[in-house]
Amino acid sequence: MSNVIVIGGGAAGMMAAYAAALCGHQVKLIEQNEKLGKKIFITGKGRCNITNAGDMDNLFANVMSNPKFLYSAFYTFNNEQMMSFLEEYGLKMKVERGNRVFPVSDHSSDVIATLRKALANKNVEVFLHTKVNHLLVTKEQIEGVGLSDGREVPADAVIVATGGFSYQTTGATGDGYRFAEKTGHKLVQRTPALVPFEIKEAWVKELQGLSLRNVSVSVYNEKKKLYEDFGEMLFTHFGVSGPLILSASGMIKAKQFENELKLYIDLKPALTAEQLDKRILRDFDEAMNKQFKNAIGHLLPAKMIPVLIDLSGIDPEKKVNEISREERTGLVALMKKLPLTITGLRGWNEAIITKGGVSVKDINPSTMESKHVQNLFFCGEVLDLDALTGGYNLQIAWSTGYLAGISVQ
Ligand SMILES: Cc1cc2nc3c(=O)[nH]c(=O)nc-3n(C[C@H](O)[C@H](O)[C@H](O)COP(=O)(O)OP(=O)(O)OC[C@H]3O[C@@H](n4cnc5c(N)ncnc54)[C@H](O)[C@@H]3O)c2cc1C
Repeated sequence: MSNVIVIGGGAAGMMAAYAAALCGHQVKLIEQNEKLGKKIFITGKGRCNITNAGDMDNLFANVMSNPKFLYSAFYTFNNEQMMSFLEEYGLKMKVERGNRVFPVSDHSSDVIATLRKALANKNVEVFLHTKVNHLLVTKEQIEGVGLSDGREVPADAVIVATGGFSYQTTGATGDGYRFAEKTGHKLVQRTPALVPFEIKEAWVKELQGLSLRNVSVSVYNEKKKLYEDFGEMLFTHFGVSGPLILSASGMIKAKQFENELKLYIDLKPALTAEQLDKRILRDFDEAMNKQFKNAIGHLLPAKMIPVLIDLSGIDPEKKVNEISREERTGLVALMKKLPLTITGLRGWNEAIITKGGVSVKDINPSTMESKHVQNLFFCGEVLDLDALTGGYNLQIAWSTGYLAGISVQ
């Protein structure tokens, strides 16, 4: 039996502590906040999208950084095992659109309560309001941790589960990166990911609050297409957000944002340009003597009409039967490829996750143990691992946390 310290009472840390205790170790879970799972509480808009019920191929396909590194972690403790574990401790779950798994109650607090119950069941000692300041390492061997109040706590093994940089109010202070760097681990550049875009065009502000469903969004670096998908997006006071945009931000590499990228919205992805032109012609025929501004109400959400009219350059007072073929073609082109310019990403406090982190090259993928310091483990978002939305990021935390916990000797 070893004395194990887990730093960080988030998803990965709670799971690591549980798994180590399951293997018969004496476990101390150290959390700087006043309670466990502060970030879990805000996940899935307060409902916690616990995992994704898709198959293993789907899990790997949705991991953006270093999916191969997760092979052992996912196969040791997968989404089904996570659901069985929570069920065993009394949590009822449901599967929603896109195989997203939520608690039946729709309360993330129930997920946290279930994890707390599992920790108590395995006699994990929880220390709240306790901040680790540094790791104690001698001759490439972990010896314990130093707390911010000056105390030193010895341990045979330490698991770092301190999370990333995003939503700092939840405790994401990036301490784990400092611990890793000081003990000889490389860090991969960290950037906010699954984060809204800032947009150059001033007119987006006029559309603030407008949500577009069933649109297609593509992102280009000059001629190179970096992303394209179909779904839902949202206009905000600074630019664009919503599921499609967050996914786009997760799939584009940090370096690519150094260029000014173009984002195009296809407002009518179900129609080709020709079909859309015919549809507009039909609408114009039915509204022969109406002014242009009053004739496109069937095609667009009301809030978008003044913006589209302005961008089209067509006089809003013009009768539709006076609109030229050229003007109509321009309107179709706008609706099929509405151009926006991405000027940047929103900051850490709006990012769902951190891209980058402790390099997985410095970590043994079969155990989550450091390759430089014996009996030191890393798991969760502190590592250079990230995935798209849909429950995959939490599954990374559960799987890597579990593997780290059971790998302690
Ligand atoms: C708004 C939002 C919604 C999200 N929704 C979902 C979702 O629905 N589904 C999904 O799969 N993912 C979601 N995510 C992502 C998911 O929450 C994270 O990937 C996951 O929580 C990472 O777990 P972690 O344990 O690695 O880090 P965290 O959950 O951040 O936990 C790290 C813990 O370590 C503690 N800590 C840090 N430093 C120290 C220190 N020095 N001493 C002591 N304690 C320390 C912190 O206080 C914190 O409690 C969401 C994220 C956000 C921000």
